[in-house]
Amino acid sequence: MTTKKSKLKVIPLGGLGEVGKNITLFEYKKDIVIVDCGIAFPDESMFGIDIVLPDYTYLVNNKDRVKAIVLTHGHEDHIGGIPYLLKELNVPIYGTKLTIGLVENKLNEHKLLDTTERIVVKPKDVVKIGGFEIEFIRTNHSIADSVALFIKCEAAKVLHTGDFKIDYNPIDDEVIDLKRFAELGTEGVDLLMADSTNVELPGYTLSESSVGKTFMELFNGVKSRILVASFASSVHRVQQIADAAIAHNRKIALSGRSMINVSNTALELGYLHIPQDALVDIRDINKYDPSEIVVISTGSQGEPLAALSRMAAGEYRQLSINAGDLVIISASPIPGNEKMINRVINNLYKLGANVIYEKLADIHVSGHAKQEELKLVHTLVKPKNFVPVHGEYRMLMHHAKLAQELGMCEENTIVAENGGVIEVDETGCKVIGKVPSGITLVDGLGIGDVGNIVLRDRKHLSEDGLFIVVVTLSKGKTVAGPDVISRGFVYVRESEELINNARRVVKEALSRCEEKNIYEWNKIKGEIKESLDQFLFEKTKRKPMILPILMEV
Ligand SMILES: [Zn+2]
Ligand SMILES: [Zn+2]
Repeated sequence: MTTKKSKLKVIPLGGLGEVGKNITLFEYKKDIVIVDCGIAFPDESMFGIDIVLPDYTYLVNNKDRVKAIVLTHGHEDHIGGIPYLLKELNVPIYGTKLTIGLVENKLNEHKLLDTTERIVVKPKDVVKIGGFEIEFIRTNHSIADSVALFIKCEAAKVLHTGDFKIDYNPIDDEVIDLKRFAELGTEGVDLLMADSTNVELPGYTLSESSVGKTFMELFNGVKSRILVASFASSVHRVQQIADAAIAHNRKIALSGRSMINVSNTALELGYLHIPQDALVDIRDINKYDPSEIVVISTGSQGEPLAALSRMAAGEYRQLSINAGDLVIISASPIPGNEKMINRVINNLYKLGANVIYEKLADIHVSGHAKQEELKLVHTLVKPKNFVPVHGEYRMLMHHAKLAQELGMCEENTIVAENGGVIEVDETGCKVIGKVPSGITLVDGLGIGDVGNIVLRDRKHLSEDGLFIVVVTLSKGKTVAGPDVISRGFVYVRESEELINNARRVVKEALSRCEEKNIYEWNKIKGEIKESLDQFLFEKTKRKPMILPILMEV
């Protein structure tokens, strides 16, 4: 008798067809291990939504089989979902020191620190989790302490790169462990899953250390205050800004909640090195001459609530931009954020600041590998199968093509979608099914209570506003009203005629109902809505949301 051999299933619940909410399940026999657990940020169609989570249904339904969450690095699109998932299932979390430090900040905020087991690992460590053996391999990325994962079970061996670039001169001297990548290539890798973010770009991503030289040059001879905006999580960027500040005899003030939180964690854990006496509180900067201060702040994407945007709008209590201030935006706009960041730059210029951004100087490098780096990794690892990850659909397609140009057969490259169940063993790799993989929206304290219908209403309200009609009835006869209240539709005081005519339309609708002996409120409301809809559209070419309210006395 032959028993059917179990295969490894790889199930990405997020991160494919998008840059965001990365989460991939590895399932072998009865065990499931989760790799990364990120969030995405809402697009402009998601009115009022704070963050976007993947659909955890499959995990919740298989709760008892989930053994652990294993993390590649501490970016929001890889760790942001952890507090939300932990509300559904409690499992230990594995990650490197800085990654776990950043996770602990989140657990603390959500009061989950005491109930969650955290296991700190180092590159080269191998851990056994259920039927899996997972090895952590040093990589380079825009956040320190990033790792790739080599995931082994009886059925297959998978190398997941995480987000990475190849930096031969990283700030912490910890170069990506290419030697290990090559060894694994010799050992044999059944499946490679690799970062596709920059696959459209030829050449190599420059070393993070190249940015430091630019800061040194830009700071030279400046007499005014200097303000640099960057991602809080780019610890090595913050380090280089601080180094340039100290070299120019300036003190450093951190501004913005995430900049302060992340930098404090990085300082405590030894990933950021700034002498205590070089740091000053943002509230004390006016005690110093402008030539003695560098402010490092959040807001490099023009996010409306971040420190830099509020400074540019003159709404930041602790710091106002003065004419002559040098403002450096050390980031490139994430696609979609260009408008917001340009608005901030324009506002800063209006306030008299001198602004330097990516188009004007080399003040930013990416954290993701470009084509030549990707080719090197593919060549070293020589996987039997390849699934491109971490990218919008076209990036995944480009990455699949890149693998094929290096000699991989088309049938061994799989461009999968979120929810696709990819089965892997030494003989091959194919998509065999699908699990639920939508999105869950978070608004304030509500998780998943805002769905398509609520979003449609918000969109409707945002476009044409609200029109409320109140009528008081007694035994089917109107005794008061109709009264009209509107918001975001027309300015009532200047539209008296329109409102009076609208009232007339409602009255006519009511008498039609009376004549036809219609007493059901739903039908009366329907009649009011329909006639108002028509009337208002005719007069204004707008379609406000109409809410008839009937009251009985
Ligand atoms: Zn990342
Ligand atoms: Zn990422």
